[in-house]
Amino acid sequence: MATMQTYTCPWCGTHYTEHRANCTNCGGALPVRTALTAGPLPPPPPRAVPSEFVRRVRYANRVYTVLGQVFSGLGVALGVIFLAVGAVTPVVVMLVLGVVFFAVFGGIGVAFLTYSRRKISRQLAAITQGVATGGVIEDVFVDMSVRVNHRSPTKVEYSFSVGGVRWTGSAHAWQPDPEMVRGAPVHVVYVVDNPGQSSLFPPVA
Ligand SMILES: [Zn+2]
Repeated sequence: MATMQTYTCPWCGTHYTEHRANCTNCGGALPVRTALTAGPLPPPPPRAVPSEFVRRVRYANRVYTVLGQVFSGLGVALGVIFLAVGAVTPVVVMLVLGVVFFAVFGGIGVAFLTYSRRKISRQLAAITQGVATGGVIEDVFVDMSVRVNHRSPTKVEYSFSVGGVRWTGSAHAWQPDPEMVRGAPVHVVYVVDNPGQSSLFPPVA
């Protein structure tokens, strides 16, 4: 079976059979990197990213957001119920339990929401604010440790150096780019204060 070359928008995941400069769905720039060239330099920060990409990053972290909402909701609901029952009956233990449930479940909920918000903003920070540098693909392999709907993503590992220090990063690609091969040059953007927080630019989808 012949496989047709397709191009995938790294920002929203839309497929194209012909390369184009910008995605018609989200407006993002499609990569022109090949196994031999990393393509044009990333624009200087701050970089605008398609809202579709921000939505995808949020979606990838939805488990923490949902847990945060569930625990916060539980804290408020149990707090209100026990305080109301305690006030009506009146039983002091009920009032105490109301405060305890509110504080414990609410606290867990806020912790999850904070974690998810920070994780999302860290993931976006490298792309929108990061400093650009050259890197190289170290390895490309199917990551069997991750399975979603009977599929595993391709893991792309890359390295780059900052002031003589070697850093590495990785990304999961569900639509691997055939030009993403070991040794290929890439553009990397990293957070100045923490080069451990980095991304390929453009990212992989
Ligand atoms: Zn797109």
